[in-house]
Amino acid sequence: MALSRRRVRAIAQHVFAVVPSMYPDAKFKEIDGNWAPGKKYTTCGGLPGYVARKLGMAPEVAKDGLGGYGLTSMRNAGIKRNAWIHHSIEARLRGEDIRPKKGDFYLLCSGWPDRHEKGCPCVQPEDPKKQHLVTGATVEHVGVIINSSGTLWRTADAGQSVNMGKNPDGTPKIYQCAKFVDRTFDPIKGTLTGEVGAGGIRPPRRLCGWIDIDLYPFLN
Ligand SMILES: [Zn+2]
Repeated sequence: MALSRRRVRAIAQHVFAVVPSMYPDAKFKEIDGNWAPGKKYTTCGGLPGYVARKLGMAPEVAKDGLGGYGLTSMRNAGIKRNAWIHHSIEARLRGEDIRPKKGDFYLLCSGWPDRHEKGCPCVQPEDPKKQHLVTGATVEHVGVIINSSGTLWRTADAGQSVNMGKNPDGTPKIYQCAKFVDRTFDPIKGTLTGEVGAGGIRPPRRLCGWIDIDLYPFLN
C-alpha cells in the first residue's frame, strides 16, 4: 500500500534532518536543546516531538504536549485525539496483524509481562509521584518507526547513550545521541529488543502502542 504524503515527509524530510546526530551537534539540539552531559533524563521524547512540530499543530492541539519532550504526555495526547493504537496481544490471537507503519511514533512501556495487558492504556498522570494511582505501566521509551515489516524492525531513536570515556573525576562520560536502531519484534510476547542504555543492552520491552500519524490532527 502506498504511504501517505505525510508519512513520506515525516521520515524523508524531518527524521533524516536530525538523525543521526549527537550532543553537542546543532542537529541534536533541534531534538533537545537543553540536555547536557550529567543530566539524567532521556532525550528520546524530543525526536517524535520535533517531527510533530514540523508536521504542525493548531495551538489547541499543541497544548496537549505531543510536540514536547514528555513521554506520558505523548501517549495521553494520542489517546485524547483518537490517534492512539493500543498494541494488544488479544488482537493478535484473533488473527489481526496490527503493527505501526512508517513514520508512526511508537512507545515502549514497563508493562511486560503482564501489567501492559491489565492496565495500559488510559490517560495517566504526568507526575511520576501519582503513577501509583493507575494500574497501567509507565512509558519508558518513544521513537519513530522507519520499517516494521517482518520481525526485524528499524526505528529512529533519540536518548541513546554514547560512552565518551571518563570525566576528569573518573566517572563515565556519557553523551546522548539520535540514531537508527535495529530491533527484533516478538509478535507472541509483543516486545521489542534493541534498547541500549548507559548500563548496556536492556531486556526486551513491551510495545505499548503507537500514535498513528495519519490519524493525528497535524496540519501538514
Ligand atoms: Zn503498555
